[in-house]
Amino acid sequence: MSALTVTSVAPLTPRMTRVTFTGDGLPAIGTWPDQQLKLLFPKPGHSAHVSDSPDVGVWYQAYLALPDAERPWMRSFTVRSLADGVLTVDFVLHGDSGPASRWAANAQIGDVIGRFGPSRDYARPLGTADFLVFAGDETALPAIASLLEPLPPEQRFAAVVEVADPVEEQEIPGVRWVHRSAGDDLVTAVSALEVPPSTWVWLGGEASAVRALRRHFVGLGVAKEDIEFAGYWRRSLTQDDAPTAEDLAEARERIASLGE
Ligand SMILES: Cc1cc2nc3c(=O)[nH]c(=O)nc-3n(C[C@H](O)[C@H](O)[C@H](O)COP(=O)(O)OP(=O)(O)OC[C@H]3O[C@@H](n4cnc5c(N)ncnc54)[C@H](O)[C@@H]3O)c2cc1C
Repeated sequence: MSALTVTSVAPLTPRMTRVTFTGDGLPAIGTWPDQQLKLLFPKPGHSAHVSDSPDVGVWYQAYLALPDAERPWMRSFTVRSLADGVLTVDFVLHGDSGPASRWAANAQIGDVIGRFGPSRDYARPLGTADFLVFAGDETALPAIASLLEPLPPEQRFAAVVEVADPVEEQEIPGVRWVHRSAGDDLVTAVSALEVPPSTWVWLGGEASAVRALRRHFVGLGVAKEDIEFAGYWRRSLTQDDAPTAEDLAEARERIASLGE
């Protein structure tokens, strides 16, 4: 685990803020699309430091061994960019109830949090199909943007992102925006896409929407191993809450698809 120190904070939209960090080990990480990492947010009166072990098993045991009141909140995020030793993360400001969202809304230059990852061990190759679909909500926007950037110009794709309203749109070429304020939603918009038989799909965002879309594409005949999917957050549940029966079923399917 390494410390990250805030070097800038800038609002991107009313509900999304961009934070840049410096920290030990960043220049050695390298870059790839959809780089996922764990960020650790300190509990009041404590630091976010856990253990310096690079071994994930050892590190996680040390994390669990900390008393509740000291154990930092751990949340998943995506590298928006990593260049010249500067890590950029875009945080959705979804309200005060989440420690990550609350931290981001109040972040100041010099604040220190922790990070574990990103690791190349978790990098997944992009599909090689004729047509690629990327779909998610604002939490998946950093990942979708990083996946679209390296696509060759001849690659055919659809990228659909659901946000609260038009002011939440960002300058990301190729994205079709869906606005909750207009009564539209991701599942309806993506289900209306016409896709060819050779299609690969990437889904991220609110867990029930991701599940519904995965079912939709399986129903269209897209092979399960050609659907990369992850529930990024669960309505009314924090990332500390235990997995639901649906989460566990999804995890089992994901493990099974890795073996196929
Ligand atoms: C692999 C991965 C990559 C991710 N990348 C990013 C990223 O780059 N940027 C980013 O902002 N998020 C990202 N997320 C999503 C983020 O981890 C979750 O939104 C997380 O719950 C935020 O933690 P929190 O402490 O703010 O809220 P929590 O303590 O986890 O949840 C508190 C409450 O807020 C609700 N909640 C959580 N997220 C949202 C939301 N987006 N909208 C509305 N309500 C919400 C929960 O249902 C709960 O009721 C990613 C998730 C994963 C798994």
